[in-house]
Amino acid sequence: MKSIQDKFLFQDRNYIFGNWEDADSKETITVINPSTFEILGTVPKSGKMETDRAIGAAKTTFPSWKKKPAKERANILQKWFRLILENKEDLARIMTLEQGKPIAEARAEIVYAASYIEWFSEEAKRFYGDIIPSHKTDNRIFVLKEPIGVVGTITPWNFPSAMLARKIAPALAAGNTVVSKPSELTPYSAFALAVLGERAGIPKGVWNIITGDPVSIGASLLESKDVRKLSFTGSTKTGMYLMEKSAPTLKKLSLELGGNAPFIVFEDADMEEAVKGAMLSKYRNSGQTCVCVNRFLVHDSIAEEFVSRLSKEAAKLKVGNGLEPEVEQGPLINDAAMKKVELHVEDAVSKGAKLIIGGKKHALGGNFYEPTVLFPVNKEMLVCKEETFGPIASVMTFSSEEEAIAKANDTEFGLASYIYTKDIARIFRVAESLEYGMVGINEGIISSEQVPFGGIKFSGMGREGSKYGMEDYMEIKYLCLGGII
Ligand code: ADP
Repeated sequence: MKSIQDKFLFQDRNYIFGNWEDADSKETITVINPSTFEILGTVPKSGKMETDRAIGAAKTTFPSWKKKPAKERANILQKWFRLILENKEDLARIMTLEQGKPIAEARAEIVYAASYIEWFSEEAKRFYGDIIPSHKTDNRIFVLKEPIGVVGTITPWNFPSAMLARKIAPALAAGNTVVSKPSELTPYSAFALAVLGERAGIPKGVWNIITGDPVSIGASLLESKDVRKLSFTGSTKTGMYLMEKSAPTLKKLSLELGGNAPFIVFEDADMEEAVKGAMLSKYRNSGQTCVCVNRFLVHDSIAEEFVSRLSKEAAKLKVGNGLEPEVEQGPLINDAAMKKVELHVEDAVSKGAKLIIGGKKHALGGNFYEPTVLFPVNKEMLVCKEETFGPIASVMTFSSEEEAIAKANDTEFGLASYIYTKDIARIFRVAESLEYGMVGINEGIISSEQVPFGGIKFSGMGREGSKYGMEDYMEIKYLCLGGII
């Protein structure tokens, strides 16, 4: 990491009880830059032993962290928030190097990640309990909110800092201690946040990070009775596995899983705004976000125009290495992602979809894929059934509001959805009919720290951000005080 100013931010070992440690076996995993395939470094290939030690550190430090006055925890988080913003450039470069996204998007993600830390530093002080009128004259009823204990977090590679921050911030604000397993593809962003967390005053052992084999680290977290909660962001398949394996220790769960977001454009929509929203929602992070549009549903009277305008905009996107300032679309994360995108496009074309633009590997080679528009698609195609996770806009048509709602809901998933219309009554009719946790109305970007982000159905459970995001990291305890005569 030659290009970062503060070299200490680049850490490549586990962070356990405030120490930077190799795996016990000294084995490592290689981390590569998905734009250039250059080796960025290695991280420990840890397993059960290291995870158990990290859980031990979190368990040991839980009582003292829990006891700290909320204001002290809040002050530490606020300092951490400021340090992240001060180090934005280095953090963004680390992210682009390991994840590939354009540097402007990486900077925006750092600010977004920091916003969760700021938000929950404020929430930490305002998480009030209740006093409930009793049914008896001689007792009083109090409700307290308390931290859960040791929390395990497992996060993905698509937003290496933000997905972590929105778990760590409420967990620590509420007084929990944490063991984190970032994605083995993008571990350095997590370690860099830990360096700044330590500088901000997070006590040693309160937050621990380990990298390595997902299955064996996962197994230790799952089997441990000391880990009382698991918070996961990733695929539905892994989420289901974690839920099943959490049963014997009855862990609380937050699961932020895959999506299959519909983006409905009605005949009365502002076309320019719809195309603008579509571009932001579809092509950001090369289409590798869980809330990015997977299916465009466009009224058949305007479908041709929408496809033509969207294609014109998408074709302008500059693809390349995210460190080049003018690049707007980086690479896909790895070969597996490339294969999935290729399979989805091939499948759609073989079933009758036309390639309006793109549809193949970019001339740059490697993990770069052309911004693509497919039209018309239908529900038999993989692009409509599964999350494509690539820069592929798949457009289908509808002729009535009922049909649009039925098609939008025709999926196991229920994370984000989008509608574009100027009709107020329709906004409410459709928004209330959509089986999704989030609805963007004439808005293509809907996530921020003050909103409850999360899904229903196969998209998971729990909410991140907002006042609701804090509740997911707290237990309710009720005190019944008798003998008041
Ligand atoms: P994606 O397909 O988006 O990479 P995954 O669900 O495979 O989604 O990965 C998300 C996170 O879950 C990553 O940190 C990954 O290492 C982790 N992971 C994957 N499989 C397991 C598992 N069996 N146990 C624990 N963590 C896992």
